[in-house]
Amino acid sequence: MVKICEPFCGAVLNHRHGRKVEGGLEIPVWGTAPEGQPVTVNGVYARRSGERFATEVVLDAFETDLVAVSNGVTGHCEHRIRVVWDRHSKPRYRFAIDDNSFFFRDIAAKKYHSLFDCFYLAGLRELNRKYGAKFSLNVFYATPENDFNLSQFPSSYKGEWADCAHWLKLAFHAYAEFPDRPYQNCPPEKLAKDLDLVAGEIARFAGEASYCAPTVIHWGMVHPSAWPVLTRRNVKVLTGFFMPNTGSSYTTENEDFGVEKSGTPFGYDVNYWLDDLRSEYLTRHDALKDFASGLVFSKVDIVCNNVPLEQIESVLEPLTRDPNTAEIMDLFTHEQYFWPFYFNYRPDHFLRVDAALRFCTEHGHEPVFLHEGFLGGKE
Ligand SMILES: [Zn+2]
Repeated sequence: MVKICEPFCGAVLNHRHGRKVEGGLEIPVWGTAPEGQPVTVNGVYARRSGERFATEVVLDAFETDLVAVSNGVTGHCEHRIRVVWDRHSKPRYRFAIDDNSFFFRDIAAKKYHSLFDCFYLAGLRELNRKYGAKFSLNVFYATPENDFNLSQFPSSYKGEWADCAHWLKLAFHAYAEFPDRPYQNCPPEKLAKDLDLVAGEIARFAGEASYCAPTVIHWGMVHPSAWPVLTRRNVKVLTGFFMPNTGSSYTTENEDFGVEKSGTPFGYDVNYWLDDLRSEYLTRHDALKDFASGLVFSKVDIVCNNVPLEQIESVLEPLTRDPNTAEIMDLFTHEQYFWPFYFNYRPDHFLRVDAALRFCTEHGHEPVFLHEGFLGGKE
């Protein structure tokens, strides 16, 4: 058997993973094969040491197949993987806010003169002015109380939405906050119907320039049979936690599904049902491409509403020291926690967001939208 151990199939590689050479990025490739048998990688003999083989390959295209071949006494063996080269990669961050519905209800009820008379949008605009921050707001159709939905939001602010569309985008997140995990096991038609409903409302009241394809679906769980609903609507990136599942949030039904899918009762969660192997990889890396669907998965780096203000830096700082997590900061929080009436209100929520943005800005990360280009960078 011959096996490429690194890089990993679907890896997104940048200048931190190799050496810039004439014509591309030279990356190390290593793996294992039976001792003593010659191994080639993309046609070139690799160095051997015991079971290990190692060589370098120059990436010169956006996607490259790496093929390790051993022709031994037991026959022909090969391992073929594919990697992505993010050739124009620059340190960057994006900020996504999930679960938005309260601010729409507030603006519609108060009939403000300006969108930014709402303290929430005013706070985001202040952070845009201070750091150049861009925000994608992932929105529900209806409030949790079901006392308001987007069809009731006036189109009279369309001009203001257009004026800030370069830093403030609206995207589908779910029909509503409850029930939990609405798309974890749902038929594709349900996701399609909800997404199109929200996209249509955003286009009506804010205009096409303010709309963007979603990058975070509520609870980070979409049944793979519904992934094409997303890719057909121009979704290129999905962000999740890719965290080991403790089982606490699983219903019996989902637990059964987990057993069937992965062979282990508690694999990974908030991972769009991605397999355990790649979910584990994403716990340690910024991103990974699934070539079958064309989707790129991105790992959330911080959820500001869950991290005390004084710990924001210490959560982000270690990421900057690992080449696998230093390039793309996927910053994240939830709208509810900004509102004083919410049971989990965080009075210092804006300060936490400010601290995360300040950290990224001071470390040379530029604001991007993940739905644009390749993971927010030049393609
Ligand atoms: Zn959500």
